[in-house]
Amino acid sequence: MGIICILDQQLANKIAAGEVVERPASVVRELLENSIDAGAGNIFVDVERAGRKLIRVSDDGRGMDEADAMLSVERHATSKITEEGDLSNIGTMGFRGEALPSIASISRLSIKTAPQHAQQGDKGPHGFEFKVKDGKAGEPTPVATVGTTVEVRDIFYNTPARRKFLKRDQTELMHIVDTVTRLAISHPAIGFTLTVGGQPTVTLPRAKDLRERLVQVYGTEFVDGLVAVGRHDGPLKVEGFVSPPSGLRETRTHQMLFINRRPVRDPSVSHAVFSAYDAPKGLHPVFFIFLDLDPEIVDVNVHPAKQEVRFSDKSGLYRFVRRAVGEAVRPLPGGEYLSQEDAAFSGASSDNTSDNASVYASVSEHASSFPSGTFRVSEALPDSYGEAGGFAGNFRAGNFRAQLPFVYLGETFIAYPDGNGGMAVLDHHAAHERVLFEGLLDGIRLDSTMLLFPRQVQLSKKEHMVVLDNLEMLAEFGLDLEDFGGTSVVVRALPGPLEEADLRGILSEAVAAISEGEKPGRNIHEAVAARIACHSSVRGATVLGPEEFNALLEQLDQARDPEHCPHGRPTRLHFSLAELRKLFKRT
Ligand code: ADP
Ligand code: MG
Repeated sequence: MGIICILDQQLANKIAAGEVVERPASVVRELLENSIDAGAGNIFVDVERAGRKLIRVSDDGRGMDEADAMLSVERHATSKITEEGDLSNIGTMGFRGEALPSIASISRLSIKTAPQHAQQGDKGPHGFEFKVKDGKAGEPTPVATVGTTVEVRDIFYNTPARRKFLKRDQTELMHIVDTVTRLAISHPAIGFTLTVGGQPTVTLPRAKDLRERLVQVYGTEFVDGLVAVGRHDGPLKVEGFVSPPSGLRETRTHQMLFINRRPVRDPSVSHAVFSAYDAPKGLHPVFFIFLDLDPEIVDVNVHPAKQEVRFSDKSGLYRFVRRAVGEAVRPLPGGEYLSQEDAAFSGASSDNTSDNASVYASVSEHASSFPSGTFRVSEALPDSYGEAGGFAGNFRAGNFRAQLPFVYLGETFIAYPDGNGGMAVLDHHAAHERVLFEGLLDGIRLDSTMLLFPRQVQLSKKEHMVVLDNLEMLAEFGLDLEDFGGTSVVVRALPGPLEEADLRGILSEAVAAISEGEKPGRNIHEAVAARIACHSSVRGATVLGPEEFNALLEQLDQARDPEHCPHGRPTRLHFSLAELRKLFKRT
C-alpha cells in the first residue's frame, strides 16, 4: 500500500511558515517588503507586546482589487513573476508568493485594501476588508481605506512549540526595530514609522538620499565620521559609507550590506570590506555597503527568507569591493574629490571604470539638520534599546506566572522560599549549567538563530582541524559553522542561549572534550555538551532580574535531573520547614 500522501494546503503552509516566519520580526520584514513592492511612499508599523499580540503594517501603495486580494493569501500567488525566466531577473523584494499564506497559517490575519485606480463613485467606499481563517479568505465587507493594511494577531497561536521559543519581549522588539531600521536605510525615499504599544518609537520621514536617512537614524556626528564609497565597473556597482582607517571599532556593530536594496549577509563581501583596511586585530570598520548588481549575476533564491544570495563570480566581486573601499579610505595624494551627493545614491554614478581612476569621495560638510521629534537609534544599537529612557517604558512585561521573591547571597547563591514554609538556596551557575546541558542534548538547535553578521572565530591549527572534522556534531548543538580559510571558521547560527557567549572559548572547550575521547560511563556527546554548558553558563557577576530568575527556576524544574549540574554537584539545597524547626531547636 502506498504510504506517500500529499500534504493538505494548510499543513504545507505551516511548514513553509517554519522557514519564512522565525519570529515576529520576520512577519514585519515580509509585510514591509510587500509595502515597498507596492510602491508605498509612507509605511506605518504598529506592534503590541513585541508583535506577539499584534503586528499591523499600513501603506499608501497601489493596493489590491478584490480578486487579487483574495488570491494573495493562496500559496504561490504572486503578481511579481510569471515565468521561469523572471527568476533570473528579480527586481522586487518578494517573488515566491509564500509570505501571506505562511503568515496566515500561524496567526489571525486580516487585510484591508483598496485598489489605487478604482473610481470613487457615489456607490460608497471602494475598499474592503476580510479575515483569513484556516487558510481561506472570508467574506469581504466594504470599507473606506487607502493603500493596504495587513493585520497579524496572535502569531504562533496554533504552533505552541514555536511560541515557546520566542525570546523576551525586549529581544523580539529589538529584532523588529532592527528590521525596520535596515529596510529604512535601504529605502531612504520611503517614510517609516514604528509605534510600539501606541508610542512612536522610530520616526523616519521620507529622505532625499542615503546620507540623509543615515543622519535621521544615527545623527550627524556619526555620519560625518564616515567616508563615502562609490565605484562602478561594468555589471558591478557599489555605493555607501564606511569608517575611515582612524575610525575602527572593537565591535562589529553597524555593518550592513545590501544587495540590490535587499538586506543580506555575506561573510565574503563583509570580509572584502574588512580586508581593505590594514586593521589591527580585533578592530572593525562600520559599513553601509550597497551593491547594485545585474540580477543576472546574483541568485537571490537561495534562502527561505531571502537573506543570503549567491554570486556567479564570488572572487571577482571580492576584489571589486575591496578595491572600492580601499580607494575610499586611502585616497592617493592629489586625488580628485567627488562631492558626496555624487557618490552616494543620487544617480550621478561615478563611472570609474579605468584602472587608474582616482576619483575619491569625501563626506560633505553640509549636514542636513536633524528633524525634530525623530527617534535616534543610539550608536550602541542593540544594547541601547532596553535602557533608552522612554523606549523601555513602551512595553511592559506581560502576564508572567506568579513570581517568587529571591535574594542574592554571596557569589552565585540565591535564596528563595520553597513555597511550603521552607527555604531553598540555588547555585545560579550550576543551575544554568544543568539547563543548558540538557538543552544542548535535547535539540536546543531547534532554537538556533541565524546571525545577522556571522562571527569569525580564529582558532589554533589543531582546533581548526578538530572543529572541521566535527561540524556535524556541533550542528546538533545548534552551532552552524563553516571553514573560513586559514585557521578560522565563521559561525552562521547558534542557539539563543549562547548568543552572548564567548565563541572562541566554547569551541576550544568542545575541541578539548572531543580530543579526550570516550570515557567509561559518558559518551562524547555528553562530554561536549557539558563543556559547552559550563563555558557558556552565567559567571559570578551576572545578576538575574525577577523574570530571568523565575524563568530559570521553571526551566530547572523541567530538567530531567534538576538537582545536579552536569558534573554531579548540587544545583540547590533545600531546608524544609521541619528542618528549620529542628535547626532552631523548636521541636
Ligand atoms: P510575494 O511578495 O512573494 O509576491 P506575498 O505572499 O508576500 O508574495 O504576497 C502575495 C501578493 O499579494 C503579492 O505578489 C502582491 O501582489 C500582493 N500584495 C501583498 N501585500 C501587498 C500590499 N501591501 N500592497 C499591494 N499588494 C500586496
Ligand atoms: Mg512578499
